[in-house]
Amino acid sequence: MSSQAPVGTSSLDQIFSLGAVRSDLWRDLLVAAQKWARQEGDSQVVQEKFQHLRDLEILHAYPGRHLMATLAAHLQEDRRTAFVELASRISFAILARYYKDDSREWEANNDVDHYGDIRHEGESLGGGRPYFEVLVVAPGNSPRVERNVQLLRAQRRKEDDFVYEPVVVDNFQDAFCAISVNSNICAVAIFEGIDFKSKQSVPLLDQAIQELDVHVDESHLALQLAVTLADYRPELDIYLLSDLRPEEIASDERAKSVRRVLYAVEEPMELHLSILEGVRARYQTPFFDNLKRYASKPISTFHALPIARGKSVFKSDWIRDMGEFYGLNLFLAESSATTGGLDSLLEPTGNIKKAQERAAKAFGAEHCFFVTNGTSTSNKMVLMAIAQPGDIIIVDRNCHKSHHYGMVLGGLQPYYVEAFPMKEYSMYGAVPLQNIKRALLNLKKEGKLDQVRAVDLTNCTFDGHVYNTRRVMLECLAIKPDLVFLWDEAWFGFAHWSPFLRPRTAMGAASYIEKWMANPESVKEYERQQQELGDNPSDEQLLNTYLLPDPRQVRLRVYQTNSTHKSMSAIRQGSMVLVKDVDFYSIEPQLHEAIFTHATTSPNQQLIASLDVARRQMELEGYGLVNNAIQIAFDIRSQINKHPLISRYFQVLGADKMIPAEYRQSGFQDFLVEGTNWDDAVCSIRDDEFFLDPTRITLVCGTAGFDGTQFKQLLADKFDIQLNKTSRNSVLLQSNINNTRSDVAHLIRVLLEISSDVEQKLTKTGEQGKLRFEERVNSLMHDVPDLPNFSHFHEKFRHDSNGAVAVEGNIREAFFMSWKEENCEYVALNSEECDRRLKEGPPMVSAKMVIPYPPGFPILVPGQVISRDTIEFMRKLDVKEVHGYEASRGLQLLKLR
Ligand SMILES: *Cc1c(COP(=O)(O)O)cnc(C)c1O
Repeated sequence: MSSQAPVGTSSLDQIFSLGAVRSDLWRDLLVAAQKWARQEGDSQVVQEKFQHLRDLEILHAYPGRHLMATLAAHLQEDRRTAFVELASRISFAILARYYKDDSREWEANNDVDHYGDIRHEGESLGGGRPYFEVLVVAPGNSPRVERNVQLLRAQRRKEDDFVYEPVVVDNFQDAFCAISVNSNICAVAIFEGIDFKSKQSVPLLDQAIQELDVHVDESHLALQLAVTLADYRPELDIYLLSDLRPEEIASDERAKSVRRVLYAVEEPMELHLSILEGVRARYQTPFFDNLKRYASKPISTFHALPIARGKSVFKSDWIRDMGEFYGLNLFLAESSATTGGLDSLLEPTGNIKKAQERAAKAFGAEHCFFVTNGTSTSNKMVLMAIAQPGDIIIVDRNCHKSHHYGMVLGGLQPYYVEAFPMKEYSMYGAVPLQNIKRALLNLKKEGKLDQVRAVDLTNCTFDGHVYNTRRVMLECLAIKPDLVFLWDEAWFGFAHWSPFLRPRTAMGAASYIEKWMANPESVKEYERQQQELGDNPSDEQLLNTYLLPDPRQVRLRVYQTNSTHKSMSAIRQGSMVLVKDVDFYSIEPQLHEAIFTHATTSPNQQLIASLDVARRQMELEGYGLVNNAIQIAFDIRSQINKHPLISRYFQVLGADKMIPAEYRQSGFQDFLVEGTNWDDAVCSIRDDEFFLDPTRITLVCGTAGFDGTQFKQLLADKFDIQLNKTSRNSVLLQSNINNTRSDVAHLIRVLLEISSDVEQKLTKTGEQGKLRFEERVNSLMHDVPDLPNFSHFHEKFRHDSNGAVAVEGNIREAFFMSWKEENCEYVALNSEECDRRLKEGPPMVSAKMVIPYPPGFPILVPGQVISRDTIEFMRKLDVKEVHGYEASRGLQLLKLR
């Protein structure tokens, strides 16, 4: 499907689609070769296509030099059938990944009769063992390197846990290309004496390479390469092989990126063992491994969990089907014990502790806590730990309800800041930095800055708005250097595994800021800015300047929560809290209490194990999986928007539609705009206030006459396509690490069918029908209610000071007031009473958190004065599900007279 339309016209998406491009190139080659074999085409075309592939294939272990040389020879010597046969076998092996398991795929001549001869002892691949590739970067034309690679391969034996194949390149640029396009690579061995420049060109990667901006320092090229690769893919194990001065290298600051420095003339055995050991370290899942051991032991249980060991299930006449459905292991692995090698999630000292430590490291954090009750609980834990009753939290009003309820529980005072509205699609974007800074500056003026504890934001939002986490934190810290940040990355946990998205994650930005703080230049930069700002900068000045904090004052305290189950292979409710906090040890006791407060005392073992396993997967194949998810997203985006029929009725919103121009300072428009390339995206990621996560795809369906809910229903009932969120006139599609190109094909086929249906109906219904259709579209697309802003808390719940009306309020007091029936009254939404109260008062004050789905954010919180905007919004709202509001009783209000 994507091969006819070359996957878009910008070069940007191609960076992500090299995997797909590769298989398309092979198929193109085959088509040309088949023609040639039938005497219909000429060998020139085959030559060109083959050369193109050769440049790409040196970055992969398979098919490797031997097979490529055989193909070249077939071509050279006009052996057409042999060429077609081999090329088709190779391209199929690449697609189906047969080469990972079957050593015969590596042979040029794998006639059935020859199997026995070809399988060399100790060299057979697979056997179910995980396969990976090792990038060897070593000086070219060196017989010693050839020998070393030979020796390295010769070390492999049947007892190894994994099997690997080397990919050999001889320069910096090819090495970078290799780790970008080849997600099989798990380890890199760099020899000294390599070149910088590539001898070939992979045009798709030229720009990415230019962006690297490496100042070539010939004497330390190997180390420079290590740093560059580690920066791009931090999960890789990097080994440096030095002839002369391993000790000197090991003491270089940059050697932190290197797992081990080895003396090059030592046995290749050493390297081989290190490589295996490095991968094993990531493969190990301390909790899961132990749970498997536990399940295989004979154990009598006298604790309270009848289901453990499955006897109550498998011996039952009545519930045996449950056992058969889930399988025995589930029950063998169930336990309420924290002994017998199992650890306690509440007080981990053993393998849960180890598993959490591994996860912390893998995700670029200092600490990680597994949570088995979803990110809903993670958020409440963090809020409770970092703040005390009365503290002010600056928070996105549209954040997930767990934050609002967290504030209720902790007695915190939310200071709501507004996201920019996207009225035409009935959704919100993210909170502009100016709104956050203004909140801080206002609180400062009111003398309340000391009470402000944290800034709490959603990154990315449901619809894919990604913050400039780095800039938000730097600028806020410039106003209050000890602010805590809570980034709710419920959807965004996977982003760590994309070099493209990582800078915009909480942890990615935190590590950038750490480096910035450690750089002596930063103090000077700060002082320069102070001078420019002068003694008494106006608010206007402060709002319009990219503020820098004083690096000597900053206490960097960053918390991230993620629903591991939403973007990685964890079981539902598996969540993590990631921490990078210089003052962690002073709040550790509180965090402990917060965990005790909120966590279940019966955590599910399978859930904990899945968190452990999700980490393993991301560390070993996350890079490729996430790249694939992004590529699929680009594919969906371009297939829909460029299809002549589908695009008549449906449209995917690009970054330019999702983010107003003022927040795209770099001028970036969209991934798929013609002429857009890697540079543009890199600038946008670095500089723009908001960036669109390409994997979150807003599909407008109002233009086809469907409202969001209706369209979701249609996809589910008729086509078995499930999706999550809807708005009045759109639905949200999302690609993730489990999607394949077939999913894209299915989706496009379905959209095509629906579009044709709509088109046909329109041709049949005549003018009258067309008019009705246009009216419907018009109503869905243009007759949309204004989105109501947060009004304010009633004065009873505020502490105004310095004559200013406080924005923050005591949500907890309002929340519990409604517990007493005599404090409450009800007013029907559509009553005259409601209108009268709006006009003449007394003000109506909400007793409840009112959340319509969609859009899914609270249009009212307890204690909030209800404005006309909100009433009008609710009256126009055409959704059935509104949490916190019973239509038959009306709005529940607090009586405050
Ligand atoms: C889903 C979600 C949560 C809650 O996470 P669970 O794991 O479902 O409890 C919190 N915040 C955001 C932004 C979410 O999307």
